[in-house]
Parts: sequence; structure tokens; C-alpha cells
Amino acid sequence: MRWWACVLAAMGTLLASHCGNGENADESPAGQGPLAMEDTETFSGQNAWNHCAALCELGPRPTGSQAYAKQVEYLAEYLSALGWRVQRDTFSPMPGREMTNLRAVFGAEEGVRPILVSCHIDTKGSGEKAILGADDGASGAAALLELARVLARTPEQAKQVELAFFDGEEALGEHITESDGLYGSRYDVARRGEKGLPACMINLDMVGGEGKVIAVPVMDTLPEMYELYRTAVRELGLPEERWTLHLGSYWDDHRPFVEAGVPTLNLIASFAGSRWWHTARDNMQRISAASLEETGKVILRILSKLQTARQTESAHVRCTMYDVRFGQAVGAALHNPAPF
Ligand SMILES: [Zn+2]
Repeated sequence: MRWWACVLAAMGTLLASHCGNGENADESPAGQGPLAMEDTETFSGQNAWNHCAALCELGPRPTGSQAYAKQVEYLAEYLSALGWRVQRDTFSPMPGREMTNLRAVFGAEEGVRPILVSCHIDTKGSGEKAILGADDGASGAAALLELARVLARTPEQAKQVELAFFDGEEALGEHITESDGLYGSRYDVARRGEKGLPACMINLDMVGGEGKVIAVPVMDTLPEMYELYRTAVRELGLPEERWTLHLGSYWDDHRPFVEAGVPTLNLIASFAGSRWWHTARDNMQRISAASLEETGKVILRILSKLQTARQTESAHVRCTMYDVRFGQAVGAALHNPAPF
């Protein structure tokens, strides 16, 4: 029995009949006994931190590993318990290698493109070089799980959103290139085809570090999306010196969507020149509940604005914000993204 299953049961969810079935408590994903999950109306950084710790308890989670598969089960079980419908997309980007994305919806409306909120869940390296990836791997998933709990409280909001947990973001070689890395997001764009693309996408990467500095890659970002981000940060009273922009592009999971014409917002912490990125220092020591909570509140604020815009703004504005294909305008700036 997962530790959170009992908590959800107490919250009156589907799991009520399964609670207390006597299964071994060592199955707690954190491996540290039951952790309390707060039943708050809004995003709890502590809940997200608990998820992050639970995922790291599985060890490094590189693509194709047993720990990766266990992680997918953890995510799927939790999301299902909240009422999300999950789907595992298994694909083979090259002979002899299988990868699995996990996606979740809450009963999407017919004909309405979802707002996609995503992260990657694979961690860098393999064998002795595998890193734990508390921030670069687990933090995005932890934030998405807590977001899923909050959204599930208001089904009208939840059903406009799709969650995606991508495999294979990390390059098998040293750095992401045009042909190595972003396997899960590249596959997802191809699988959807033009008609199945989301209205827009918010991607999270390294969003749980203590005192992080988020740097949205401005060359990948439509002005309308950037304005949503800046307004959300301002309204929440967050320090603008820690919620900034990067004057360039990044290779990250938003990129295949940018290239397909989807407006994106890539919330990623500054990592270049850091002493922790892709090293053993990327562990739970650097993760902070307060940092995760800030991230969650920014996303919820942006989602709320997107949903309000959908309901109230003119067809022209909606078209500009969600559906315009801007590959040409942005594409010119994408030829030389920073290594990632
Ligand atoms: Zn990485």
C-alpha cells in the first residue's frame, strides 16, 4: 500500500475500500514509512517535496532501467487514484531500445485542445555514471503530481489540462543535439500529428532547487506566453531577479513543440556553470519545499489566466495566443541553441 493511498482514502477518493489491506509498509515509495500529505486547497510544496524524495528513493532513473519502470508505476498509481486517466506510450527511437512516456488526462472536452503541462523523468547517465537527478529529473514530476492533486479538486479546470512525463530527454551522449536527446517529446509531437497538438505547453525542468533562478528561453517563447509568465510572477510578488529570462534558446522538451508551432513556456532553472548539474550533488540536499511551492503557484496562476482567456477573450486573441503557427518567426532564432 502506498503511503498516500491511505491519505487519499481519507479524503474520500476511490481508494477507500483498499486502505489498510495489510500490504507491507516497506512498499512506501519513500522507504521511510508513511509521509503525511497535506490536504490543502492550493499547491503544497511539502507534498511535492515528499514526492521528490520518494522518486529519489528509487535511485537513479535512467531510461530503460528498472528504477525508471518503478517510477512510471508510482506516477501512474498516484494519478489514477486522483481520478486521472493515464496512458503509457511505449516507443522505440532506435533498434534495441524502448522508451515510455506517461500521459494523463482528466476527461478532456471533445474538440478542445488541451493545455499540456510536462516534464522529463529520465535521469542523466547510466551505470557508475548515473546521477540521482533530484532536481534534473524528479522535481518536475513532483511538481506535476502535486499540481494533479490540486487540479483534481476542480474537474472543470483539470479537464482542460493534459500532463506528460517524458522519457529520453537526456542525451545518450554528452549533450543534447538534433539527433540525440528529447526522444520522448519528439516522439510525442510525431504521434499527435498536427491535429492532435496541444493549445500550448508549459514544460518544467529543474524547478525545485533552493534559491533557484528560473530563466525562460526568450527566443523559444511567444510574447503572449512570456507576458503571462511575467504577470503571474508579478502578481504573486515573487522576486523578478529569480524569475527571469535567458536571452537565447534551449534544447529541452519544449523544442519539438516549438518547432511544430505550439506556443510554449519552458520553466527551467539556470544550470550552466553550476557545480551540481549532472553531478552527484544533484540530490535531495538541494531541493526545497518552498522552491517547489513557488513553482506550483506560478503554474497554477498561468493556467488560470490561460483558462480565463479561453472563456472571455475574442476569437482573434485566442487564435493569436493558442493556434498561430509561428515556426518561421521563431525558427530563425533557433539555429544555435545553448547545449543542454
Ligand atoms: Zn539533464
